[in-house]
Amino acid sequence: MRHAFRGPRWNGQPEDTSVCGTRTGMVAEPSEEDWVRAPSCAACNTALHAARGTEV
Ligand SMILES: [Zn+2]
Repeated sequence: MRHAFRGPRWNGQPEDTSVCGTRTGMVAEPSEEDWVRAPSCAACNTALHAARGTEV
């Protein structure tokens, strides 16, 4: 599952809390294939769109 995180970039912490509130271990170098295939987290998408004031 691909969660969204606040902030411009990953700061190197081993885990972080995603936009939807999920505590997630960070993978230092996810493979591009894993990243592309992983489904986006709907809760994160909704939260990001809500923050921007845009429709999902
Ligand atoms: Zn999420």
